[in-house]
Amino acid sequence: MDAKLMSVALAQLEQALFNHDQWSEAINQTLICRLPFDERDVDPEAHKHCRFGQWYYGPGAATLQHHPGFAEIAVEHRRMHQLAAELLRRSAHCDAPSLEDYERFMAATKRMRLEAQTMKHELEDALRNIDPLTGAENRTSMLPKLREERELVKRDVHSCALAMLDIDKFKAVNDDYGHLAGDKVLSTFAALAISDLRSNDRLFRYGGEEFLICAPGADLDKGTVLLERLLAHFAAQIFEFANLPPFHVTVSAGLTMLDPAITVEETIHRADRALYAAKAGGRNRVMVWTPDMT
Ligand code: GH3
Ligand code: MG
Ligand code: MG
Repeated sequence: MDAKLMSVALAQLEQALFNHDQWSEAINQTLICRLPFDERDVDPEAHKHCRFGQWYYGPGAATLQHHPGFAEIAVEHRRMHQLAAELLRRSAHCDAPSLEDYERFMAATKRMRLEAQTMKHELEDALRNIDPLTGAENRTSMLPKLREERELVKRDVHSCALAMLDIDKFKAVNDDYGHLAGDKVLSTFAALAISDLRSNDRLFRYGGEEFLICAPGADLDKGTVLLERLLAHFAAQIFEFANLPPFHVTVSAGLTMLDPAITVEETIHRADRALYAAKAGGRNRVMVWTPDMT
């Protein structure tokens, strides 16, 4: 899910939780003060019509449907409404609900809230690690991920290729077409990279127009193929802004293997040296690190 969709989903989930809390307060008030209940709360479909349910069963929640906790929320939410309807009916007939019934209602409410809160925290965590402009991961999650990969390489679980990429002559894009055009180039590059990469590969925004790709399971050959395909896709993009002539942008890449004998920072430095060689060699190319580059 991209960062924009994720923030919209998060805002709607927060609102839905707020609405749910208000509903919960109103139910408790009705029960404690023996007020007449709202007919909608005893409807068998109450879970779909309450404001939380309107969000859950509406288009807004569709982006969260694949979240592991999503289906569980529905189960608890529905159960909570059934128990609430039962309590309201009994209370209205001057038949004090049993402590056991009330506790079951409260337990379902708490479980539902816990599931929704967990989903909310996971979304917040994911958003903290995403660069809003490009949708690539930011540096917060980069070093921990690379250190984790280094351990796997050390234990011979798999190899891991690492690439540093830098947009070519990007300063000229900003100067000639404006900063907004530059931003569009960056987000287009990241979107292409994310769609080209395999599901286990990760794209990090290393700095302004520099990106780092971590490709677990790849060797230098696979890494080169992956990068050359990405470079060709990117070079084929046509950028058009206002009345200015359309233009193309390229990117250079330096590739190396994550070496468990050295620190991840040193491996990044190797990829950076190879990138430098790609720039010196004419840009829009992939260079593999060799010891003479350091
Ligand atoms: P080279 O081919 O050697 O990489 O040349 P270059 O012009 O790409 O390199 P340089 O490092 O001189 O330029 C990078 C530019 O990227 C400078 C900076 O203003 C710009 N930049 C960094 N972050 C952003 C951003 O978020 N948006 C935009 N539009 N520009 C950015
Ligand atoms: Mg640069
Ligand atoms: Mg550059």
